[in-house]
Amino acid sequence: MVKEKKRRSRKFGRRTSSARLVSEEVFGEEIGTEDLRFERHLEVLWGIDPELTGIFRGGKRLEKVRDRAFLYIERKERFVFSLDNDLHVLEKAVVRECARVLRSVFGLINEKTTGTSALRLLWELAGEDRALALERASEGFLLEFIHLFRGLKGESGLYGKKGQLPEFLKLKGRKAARKRMDMLDAVAGSVHETMARYPSGLEKDVIERRKDNRRRILERLGGTEADWNDWQWHLEHVIRDGGVLADLIEVSGVQKAAVDRALRNHIPFGVTPYYMSLMDRSPVEGLDHAVRAQVIPPVSYVNRLVEFKDSREMAFDFMGEHDTSPVDLVTRRYPLICILKPFNTCPQICVYCQRNWEIDECMAPDAMAPEEVIRDALRWLDEHPGVGEVLVTGGDPMAMPDEAVDYLLGELARKEQIYRIRIGTRTPVTLPQRWTDALVGILGKYHEPGRREVCITTHFCHSYEISPEARDAVQRIRRGAMCVYNQVVFTIENARRFESAKLRRDMRSIGVDPYYTFNMKGKEETRSYMVPIARVLQEHKEEARLLPGVDRTDEPVFNVPRLGKNHLRAWQDHKVVMIRASGARVYEMHPWEKFLEAVPPYNYRDVPIIDFLKAIAERGEDPANYSTIWYYY
Ligand code: SF4
Repeated sequence: MVKEKKRRSRKFGRRTSSARLVSEEVFGEEIGTEDLRFERHLEVLWGIDPELTGIFRGGKRLEKVRDRAFLYIERKERFVFSLDNDLHVLEKAVVRECARVLRSVFGLINEKTTGTSALRLLWELAGEDRALALERASEGFLLEFIHLFRGLKGESGLYGKKGQLPEFLKLKGRKAARKRMDMLDAVAGSVHETMARYPSGLEKDVIERRKDNRRRILERLGGTEADWNDWQWHLEHVIRDGGVLADLIEVSGVQKAAVDRALRNHIPFGVTPYYMSLMDRSPVEGLDHAVRAQVIPPVSYVNRLVEFKDSREMAFDFMGEHDTSPVDLVTRRYPLICILKPFNTCPQICVYCQRNWEIDECMAPDAMAPEEVIRDALRWLDEHPGVGEVLVTGGDPMAMPDEAVDYLLGELARKEQIYRIRIGTRTPVTLPQRWTDALVGILGKYHEPGRREVCITTHFCHSYEISPEARDAVQRIRRGAMCVYNQVVFTIENARRFESAKLRRDMRSIGVDPYYTFNMKGKEETRSYMVPIARVLQEHKEEARLLPGVDRTDEPVFNVPRLGKNHLRAWQDHKVVMIRASGARVYEMHPWEKFLEAVPPYNYRDVPIIDFLKAIAERGEDPANYSTIWYYY
């Protein structure tokens, strides 16, 4: 073991505060170096059940181990249904869930489709000659199986012992109610306390700070207070220069270099002066992290885009829009709705844009599609009367001039079949000044309740993006009797406890309905933003669920490449089929139309849970507060 330890020390000898915190979560104590933790994890794993350990240590052939492991899982699952099993009924549910996952992960067919075998790695780790297996296996891999084996044995520790009823259930009437109130008050107090960490831009001190930001930006860009309210002025003064960015806010040398490299390589970059004002001069407060991350690209992102500069159009078309576009400007993936993209740029460029493969430049002068191409796309709609909803998106169609918006909506409204025109736009977040009475009036002309709905889908990602200007823009739209929905992208920037829950509450307070929570899809260039699916599920169960129903009207979804949205709350739509040596789960994602057509599923490699826990620990979180994450599949 000493030799093995040395070998691991070379690879993992680094000691980080985040790793320390993760080990405290598992062991209840600090274990400093990764090699020591790895050994302890192995001891814990093989100490869970001697019978299971015997299966892995005793098997001479892998297929023998597989057979015996399946029999073991079956016995454990059947025991759940026996009369002499006194496990808590909720713990029994965990046993069944872990049995389901383990059967899937140990299944031969899943080894074939994923090209790897967790069973083999466990077997090799249990054997005498394990040096190579030790090199391959990660801490995250061991932790996944520690939790699965504990869960299968009925020892997840998620629930109390059988018979340990909550105090309020032992009482009746008022006494029971009062006892229950104590519990509810404690939970509510802690929810409010955690949410207070994520102020919105409607709070007094933030408003004051942003007045200074505005003054500084106007001074630097040579504008006046009147200019600030003019959306055209913002478009003319979009910040596309690393030097101006660095004059306005403190950015690290690495960030500045990333922006410069992006610009040198014609990778779109742009921030509206308004959105710039949402950033604090100095990031020390740690409040504007999500705002900055929205537009300042990480080096890894820039490097990847530079690498695929010449094949960008195909390399980053993750959703396969090329294969679902019957004519230029139109994409259709579902029966009743299509996407129409008349305008191919935006006032500001988001780093994790789905369409980064087709937007060439921030506010590119030739972004408007030629009239003839728009006419062809509209004609296509006539030929497909089943399409009842058109999502006008882009680029950002609200960066088009009023006349173009009026023309396009007028043409769509002329078509009898269209019962909804949805506008996909980030302008309520990036350029709320765009929402003038004139624009609302244009949209309002085509919004005919009972006949045709015009509505807005926008994209707030953090409470800090909500400001008096954004509130007023949304309220102007709502006064025109139109709804505003939101699609939030769930990233490392808004994934802390109650961070997204606070956003939902703040959005409702200004009149925006939460609509979708998007799990980030696996676009490699934005991998540093991604969080595991387990965290999205945990957030919805443990945080969103505590909010009143009106606050949590959104649905967590995963956009399966080329297939479309998969509802993450439905286990029938996805399953874990493998756990890789890195600790990454592989999910089999089912197509939305599986009951219509036999479209094959898509295998998705997720972010290892341990990587997420380390990332949030680096941000000052205690991973112990997220410990139930391992049991979300
Ligand atoms: S506004 Fe939408 S289309 Fe434009 S860069 Fe952002 S995500 Fe992409």
